[in-house]
Amino acid sequence: MVAGYEVIGEVVEVGTQVKHLQKSDRVGVGWQRSACLECRDCLGGNENLCNQNQVLYHVRWGAFV
Ligand SMILES: [Zn+2]
Repeated sequence: MVAGYEVIGEVVEVGTQVKHLQKSDRVGVGWQRSACLECRDCLGGNENLCNQNQVLYHVRWGAFV
């Protein structure tokens, strides 16, 4: 287990399809791990309300795992 579910870091590598980040950018990850990105809530920008969202502190043991 790695403690912490809201983390910050620095981009060290960027995939070819990533357009909004570049190397050395400072980034943060909140408590939410994922969502479906297809339901009404997700499409409306409210992924935190998605019925399929997963949180880091519940389904995973910390943000770095
Ligand atoms: Zn959704």
